[in-house]
Amino acid sequence: MKKVLVLTSGGDAPGMNAAIRAITISAMNAGFAVFGAIGGYSGVINGEFKKLTIKDVENIIQLGGTIIKSSRCPEFMTDEGFNKAVQVINKNKFECVFVLGGDGSTRGALKLSQAGINVITLPCTIDNDMGYTRKSIGFDTALNTITGLLGNVRDTSSAHDRVCVIEVMGRHSGDLALYSGLSAGAEYIIVPELKFDQKEFIQKINKSINTGEKCALVVVAEGAFKAEQVQQIINDNLKVDAKSMNLGYVQRGGSPSVVDRVLATKMGYKATELMLSGNYNCAIRDTGLTVDFVSIQEALEKHDKFDNVAYIINNSLSI
Ligand code: ADP
Repeated sequence: MKKVLVLTSGGDAPGMNAAIRAITISAMNAGFAVFGAIGGYSGVINGEFKKLTIKDVENIIQLGGTIIKSSRCPEFMTDEGFNKAVQVINKNKFECVFVLGGDGSTRGALKLSQAGINVITLPCTIDNDMGYTRKSIGFDTALNTITGLLGNVRDTSSAHDRVCVIEVMGRHSGDLALYSGLSAGAEYIIVPELKFDQKEFIQKINKSINTGEKCALVVVAEGAFKAEQVQQIINDNLKVDAKSMNLGYVQRGGSPSVVDRVLATKMGYKATELMLSGNYNCAIRDTGLTVDFVSIQEALEKHDKFDNVAYIINNSLSI
C-alpha cells in the first residue's frame, strides 16, 4: 500500500486539524495509508510516526492545536539532522510529505523538495506573514479571538477612563494588529511596517482622551514594540492612567472559525488532488475566491503586503 506523511511544524494555528482531516480522508479514499510525524520535523528525524485512522480524524475539524503535535526543531537545520530526515523519509517510502506550517517550516519543505522528496505545503500561521497567500490557516480565528478580547479591554478601560496598550502577536507582520485594531475601533495601531511617529502618536491620544470618551485602546504588534514601552511613552507625556498587557498564547488557541475550517478543508483536499495528479513541490494558496498553488520557491519569494488603505481609514475614523 502506498504511504504518505503529514506533519505540523512551527507555531500551531487553529485549522491545522481541519487540514489534517481533509488530507487524511481524501488520501485514504484514494487508497493511501496516511501517517503523521509526531512533533513536526523532529518526528521525522526520530522516525516517530503514527498511522492515522478515520477514527483519529473524524472528530477534529472543530479542534484548535494539532493532534500530531508541533515543535521547533533546530536539529533539522543542521546538515546531520536534515540528512537523517531525508534518509528516514526515503527508507519509509513515503510517496509525498505534506508540510503544514509557517514561513520557516516552508523553508524546510523547500530543502526537502530540493533533496528529491515529493513535498506539498499548506500555509498555517496566525501571523498571516506569508505574502504568496491572501490568508493563512489560523489567521481568521486569531483575529476573532483578539478582537473579542479587545472588546473586553475596552469595557473596563471605559469604566475607569483608562488608556490601555495591548500587544498582539504577528512576528514581523502587523496584520493581526491592524485588522483586530480596526475591528475593535482602536484609537491607535502600531505596526512594524510603518515608522512610528511619537509626536503624532501623543497628539492623537491626547486629542482622543479629551474628545468624548476618556478611554483609548492602543494595539501594538509585537514586531514593533513591547506594550510596556508604549505605556511608558504615554505615562511620560500625558496625565492619564495608562495600562499595558500582552495577550500572549491565548491568541493561538481555540476552536477554528468557519473561515479557517473552510480554508483548511479546501486546502487539504487540494493538496491530495495535487499529489494524485503527480504535482509536487507545490505551496497551496488562498486567492480569495478559490485555492490554487505556486511552486514552494515562488511562494517563499513573495513578500508580505501591508494594507495601507485599512490603516489610513482606521486612523481617520479613530477619535
Ligand atoms: P514557522 O513555520 O511557524 O515559521 P519556525 O520559523 O520556527 O516556525 O520554523 C519551524 C521549523 O522549521 C524550525 O524549527 C526548523 O526545524 C524548520 N526551519 C525553519 N527555517 C528553516 C530553514 N531556513 N531551513 C530549514 N529548515 C527550517
